[in-house]
Amino acid sequence: MEIAKGKRALVVGVANDKSLAWSIARQLHEAGAEIALTYQGEVLEKRVRPLAAQIEAAVIGELDVTNDDQIAAVFGALKEKWGGLDMLVHAVAFAEREDLRDRFLNVSRKNFARTMEISAYSLVALARAAEPLMEARGGGSIVTLSYLGAVRAIPNYNVMGVAKAALEACVRYLSIDLGSKNIRVNAISAGPARTLSSSAIRDFHTMAHEVEQRSPLRRAMDVEEPAKMAVALLSDLGSGVTGQTVYVDVGYNIVGF
Ligand code: NAD
Repeated sequence: MEIAKGKRALVVGVANDKSLAWSIARQLHEAGAEIALTYQGEVLEKRVRPLAAQIEAAVIGELDVTNDDQIAAVFGALKEKWGGLDMLVHAVAFAEREDLRDRFLNVSRKNFARTMEISAYSLVALARAAEPLMEARGGGSIVTLSYLGAVRAIPNYNVMGVAKAALEACVRYLSIDLGSKNIRVNAISAGPARTLSSSAIRDFHTMAHEVEQRSPLRRAMDVEEPAKMAVALLSDLGSGVTGQTVYVDVGYNIVGF
């Protein structure tokens, strides 16, 4: 079913073929959307270009979300290429490895601010840049990726949990600001998946094992599952949904003990 046919999507956060953003980009392509990808720095460009070729995606430029000039350049290039934008995927997060182990209490002022800037504020910055392009298309849909550590204290997730709490709050406030322009904003709270980022979290395999043992579905989440939900929320299937955090975690978040 080509539910995204004729739609134009910017996907930010592909690092390699394990990235959740890559699964989303592939499924958006299968659903008929035209895709643009960005990359963070030259090293990742080498990984992103061959992936982009697989789904006939445009590599629209380098994007470090802390760099306002690069944000302006990427959205300027999109305006030139498409004149507008229907869908934005934000799958970006960063914390120093040292902060994803041991005590949350020890996080430095500098690292705390940097984690918040890259993992939460960046959604605001990208949504602001996307607004006029989505308005030009009569509306749009934005999806970001969160994790249960936003609302529960998960060992070792630490400052990233604080950033995800801020990210989910940003989703709610952005949805109010953008709703009158028919732009929806939602988060998917995904279960554990083995990616470049999650490999930095100490004892990640314990988190993943716990989900397999105790979730209602008694199995691991498949990485295609958050991607399928992203396509639904980004497309007209999700037309009545905004400001939400949707759990795609084989039900783990509802389990008490
Ligand atoms: P990933 O390492 O493949 O993707 C993280 C991306 O963030 C990379 O593409 C990286 O280039 C990008 N990034 C980091 N700092 C950046 C910056 N300054 N500017 C631009 N891009 C930057 O890992 P992933 O697991 O696919 O992560 C994608 C999203 O999914 C993240 O928000 C993550 O927190 C979230 N998430 C992951 C899991 C999991 O278990 N893997 C679970 C729930 C949510």
